[in-house]
Amino acid sequence: MLNDVNTSGKGLFLFFAIVGLFLLMAVTTLLWWLVSPQLHIISELLAIVLLYTLRLFYLVILIGIVLVLLTCYTGRNFLVIRFAVRLSMMILYPVALLLGRLFLSRDRLQESFVHVNNSFIKSMKGRFIPARVLILLPHCLQQTACGIRITLDIGRCQSCGRCDIGELKELARRYGVPIAIATGGTLARRIVVKNRPKFIIAVACHRDLVSGIQDVFPIPVYGVLNDRPEGPCVNTRVAVERIEHALQAVVKT
Ligand code: SF4
Repeated sequence: MLNDVNTSGKGLFLFFAIVGLFLLMAVTTLLWWLVSPQLHIISELLAIVLLYTLRLFYLVILIGIVLVLLTCYTGRNFLVIRFAVRLSMMILYPVALLLGRLFLSRDRLQESFVHVNNSFIKSMKGRFIPARVLILLPHCLQQTACGIRITLDIGRCQSCGRCDIGELKELARRYGVPIAIATGGTLARRIVVKNRPKFIIAVACHRDLVSGIQDVFPIPVYGVLNDRPEGPCVNTRVAVERIEHALQAVVKT
């Protein structure tokens, strides 16, 4: 599929996720050691149930992170137990962020998470019919001076060339894929529910891209970070050729 996507930054997130997992396990073990004598006094059964629930929880997370590592570093798709992958990412993402923030910026860690996600995309095989591929864009790509309301209908864009929306609209038309602009997470979710895509190409800033990827899992999302030459949320740009490259790789012709 998208074989030459750059995912070299994935190690950072994975490193903090693994360190975070071991820390979590150490803290839980310590807590267990402190409270288990009292639990055994209260109820033997309760203590056993809690112990096995904890073991099962960590087993699922361990399986999830091993599958993620295998997928990221072998280039083959090992994400077969989706529940385990989702749970491990859900639990380890905030832990990795918390730990990583002691040394690095939030943006760098989130960018690394996007690289991990894009490693999943790289490992995928197969193509999709155009109607099942969705291009999802943030509103901040639109030039602020543009008075045309394109959030409900991107077709209104006059392709004047002052921002990347015109080119992206044209690209979607050529490949026959749906394209939409989301002004926030709620609208993005609504667009996804309405279009029922099997593959999403999403452009967004670090924070929105990470939450969007997590929200729609297991739908594969190829995440493209937008450029912010004028700062966040205003007149952002995107390398249109990256979107075209993705379309060439995933759309069935
Ligand atoms: S390309 Fe479209 S959205 Fe961008 S400024 Fe021109 S008309 Fe407005």
